[in-house]
Amino acid sequence: FNKGFSTQTGSKLEGKVALITGAASGIGKATATKFINNGAKVIIADVQQELGQETAKELGPNAAFIACDVTKESDVSNAVDFAISKYNQLDIMYNNAGIACQSPASIVDLDLAVFDKVMNINVRGVMAGIKHASRVMIPRRRGSILCTASITGVMGGLSQHTYSVSKSSIVGIVRSLASELCHHGIRINCISPFAIPTPLVTDELTRLYQGADSETIIGVVNRLGTLEGAYCEPIDIANAALYLASDDAKYVSGHNLVVDGGFTVF
Ligand code: NAD
Repeated sequence: FNKGFSTQTGSKLEGKVALITGAASGIGKATATKFINNGAKVIIADVQQELGQETAKELGPNAAFIACDVTKESDVSNAVDFAISKYNQLDIMYNNAGIACQSPASIVDLDLAVFDKVMNINVRGVMAGIKHASRVMIPRRRGSILCTASITGVMGGLSQHTYSVSKSSIVGIVRSLASELCHHGIRINCISPFAIPTPLVTDELTRLYQGADSETIIGVVNRLGTLEGAYCEPIDIANAALYLASDDAKYVSGHNLVVDGGFTVF
């Protein structure tokens, strides 16, 4: 799933500092790469320390890693303070970290402990990121906040309930917060990706369909799409994130940018 990483460079984020949660892997890593290639300095915040450090090393001197579990408010606060102490500014906060559902499909079998775990990372972790980014952005009267939602949050029946609920919450959070943050010059938007065979998806499907190898799983995920001749890749989300983070989207806030090859129109 790394094949779509773009080396194409630009200057849309020249002089900007971005903090991306869940950037050790997948969509977050592709976005960190894209942002750096467009002039930004990027802080990679992730609970996976070894992989996060490796990613930062791979992305070069404009990337730095900080260990951060988004379920711990002190970690999130610390990551934001790290951006300020290292670069004296935070222009872009991308709340991207998330996990898959890990619970049975039927509501009857719902394990509320699993529900709490998913909501804790996918929703509470995002709220913590928005809270602490706003803390430093409001006095500066500028900033762009992004979050990763999902097409499962805008359509029913695409995945297990818990994950869908967590992702539809992101769309609601973005709408709700946009109304407050616009008064401080801060934009907030989310992106709803189609299925991409990152570890979040392949690990979950491998668990659900025991015995299937990851190549088969990746093939299955790729065939789900509807846009002839194209698969959804992390770079597609990184491109959307670059647009929303940059001044190209200077009048866009409270928006959910669906990146699904037209899937949700059916
Ligand atoms: P990924 O597994 O490649 O990346 C997820 C990253 O989040 C990992 O690096 C992981 O360590 C990190 N993470 C998990 N829990 C964390 C925590 N508590 N604190 C900090 N970091 C944590 O998967 P991805 O597909 O790149 O996922 C990124 C986001 O995209 C997630 O929010 C996911 O729900 C969302 N999303 C993914 C897809 C898809 O099909 N891959 C579709 C829609 C939305």
